[in-house]
Amino acid sequence: MKIQNVLIVGGGTSGWFTAASLLKLCPHINVSLIESEDHPIIGVGESTLGQINDFFHLLELNDDEWMRDTGSTYKVNIRFNDFYKEGETWDYPFGTSHERMYKMKHGWMSWFALNYHKPEKFHRGTFATTFNSVGHLAKYNKLTWQDRVWNPQSDSAYHMDAIKIGQWFKKNRCKSIVEKGNYHTGTVVGATKDEHGFIKSVVTDDGRHFEADMFVDCTGFKSLLLEQELGVPFHSFHANDGGCLLNDTAVTCHMPHEQPEIEVTNTTTCTAIDNGWVWDVPLWQRSGCGYVHSKDFAKNPEEELYQYLVRRSGKTRADQAKFRTVPFRNGKHEKSWYKNVCAVGLSNVFVEPLEATGLLCTHEQILRLCTALSSREGLVTNSEKQMLNLVCDLEIEGFKNFIASHYSFTARETPYWRAVSEDIDYDFVTGFNDNLFVRYASEKYVANEVIYNGQTFDDHNDGPRYVAAGMGFNPICKHTLELNKIHNQTMTDLTSESMDEDERRIDEWNEEMYNYCMSIPTSYEFQKNTIYKEDYV
Ligand SMILES: Cc1cc2nc3c(=O)[nH]c(=O)nc-3n(C[C@H](O)[C@H](O)[C@H](O)COP(=O)(O)OP(=O)(O)OC[C@H]3O[C@@H](n4cnc5c(N)ncnc54)[C@H](O)[C@@H]3O)c2cc1C
Repeated sequence: MKIQNVLIVGGGTSGWFTAASLLKLCPHINVSLIESEDHPIIGVGESTLGQINDFFHLLELNDDEWMRDTGSTYKVNIRFNDFYKEGETWDYPFGTSHERMYKMKHGWMSWFALNYHKPEKFHRGTFATTFNSVGHLAKYNKLTWQDRVWNPQSDSAYHMDAIKIGQWFKKNRCKSIVEKGNYHTGTVVGATKDEHGFIKSVVTDDGRHFEADMFVDCTGFKSLLLEQELGVPFHSFHANDGGCLLNDTAVTCHMPHEQPEIEVTNTTTCTAIDNGWVWDVPLWQRSGCGYVHSKDFAKNPEEELYQYLVRRSGKTRADQAKFRTVPFRNGKHEKSWYKNVCAVGLSNVFVEPLEATGLLCTHEQILRLCTALSSREGLVTNSEKQMLNLVCDLEIEGFKNFIASHYSFTARETPYWRAVSEDIDYDFVTGFNDNLFVRYASEKYVANEVIYNGQTFDDHNDGPRYVAAGMGFNPICKHTLELNKIHNQTMTDLTSESMDEDERRIDEWNEEMYNYCMSIPTSYEFQKNTIYKEDYV
């Protein structure tokens, strides 16, 4: 069918991101949007990933245009406290590994070998700084525009206010929708359909009908059009439904900064506690915190979050926090585009907040939708919808396993952490050859091959390695080293004596990066000078 008129239902981040993108990237489409005043937006989702740069680039957004209005800050790293064991921390910095370190004698395996031979010096928390210069920016909480250690265009992401960001898009990028009379408020309660089951119009509770060729469902977890009107099944990733994820609820709060010079960091911090983990997302004036947990295990989540806040900031500040409970569901729909409804955002897919994949799935789906609508004069047939659905499915399945791997290797032992480490069957099936758990298994249990081909670890932007290293999953062990020695010493020698050169390189690099980081501004100073200048109120 040929698509000329698109109606977006929902005005959360997904709705306004979609509207701004269609206006910019598909100017031939007539875009309308309806949102309900009776159903507030979810109001969480403040941490993003690097891919948002590509999305903003296509929308021609400059940081100084929107960051101040939305209280946003730069994010270059995610820090995981206590996920493997209490007291241990590991980082997941953005960007690619530094050329100089990646070209070490044994590539990635150098660190795993050093971790094996000298676990105290090369402990699990040292992987990120070994390969990635951004890891040093995170370690010392520094930022710079100099691209010597990072590429500010691609290695950064943002912390952004969940309420303000959608409204900023509405006001600044979607004016034409309002000016043309294409913006409506109203609560959609149903839809009329044609003889093929395609939606003809959505109907509001006061009896108004809004017609379009195509509808973008941005109604959040309700999934009003895709799931409720068209009946597309939802497949849960929750362990109770046969999936591999336990969490289903967050308790959230805001913590105003008392010392922004220190509290504005370039890192999202995730801290594991007894029945889940707490996010800590530093915006310019406050942090957003949220305790993600399973309601089957956490019997008093507000108290657990309160105790975390007391440890974080002291009793007086913790006492001021106002808590809000946000239930959520993990999972995907069987199809994300069915007939003339495409779902974007929470109405489509969601894997829990860890690793902040929510908005990423949203803007990637929007870009796929815009691609489909801008080719072939807006003609979209079922095969193209199937292609889009396939890619969306692979993406969400990949994220599901990636997130699950943060839990699956834990050594923690409360009932919740025992359940994630001992009771859950992880997914070794979906995602074809790209299944993360299959990759881990083949690296460890076909380890001869891995060690012989140490240099086959040639993907130098590889998130799963940060998780593996941080969670103590090292493919090297005593007998694989021994077999390696016997069979193929010349190809890759990972004995402790052979690792001296790599160790020296890492020591030099660490010292150089330390000196460099001491010469550049803190995250707060940098943003004060570049974004939040003197005139900021
Ligand atoms: C606990 C939690 C933490 C998260 N953390 C992160 C994170 O750190 N990073 C990240 O990238 N993502 C995160 N996410 C995901 C992120 O919150 C969402 O991707 C983002 O907010 C987009 O939401 P949305 O616009 O799809 O839905 P919503 O914000 O729920 O918006 C739904 C819209 O639909 C409208 N609507 C609903 N019903 C009707 C109706 N009947 N008629 C008309 N309009 C209607 C509402 O008025 C609203 O405008 C998190 C999600 C959760 C649950």
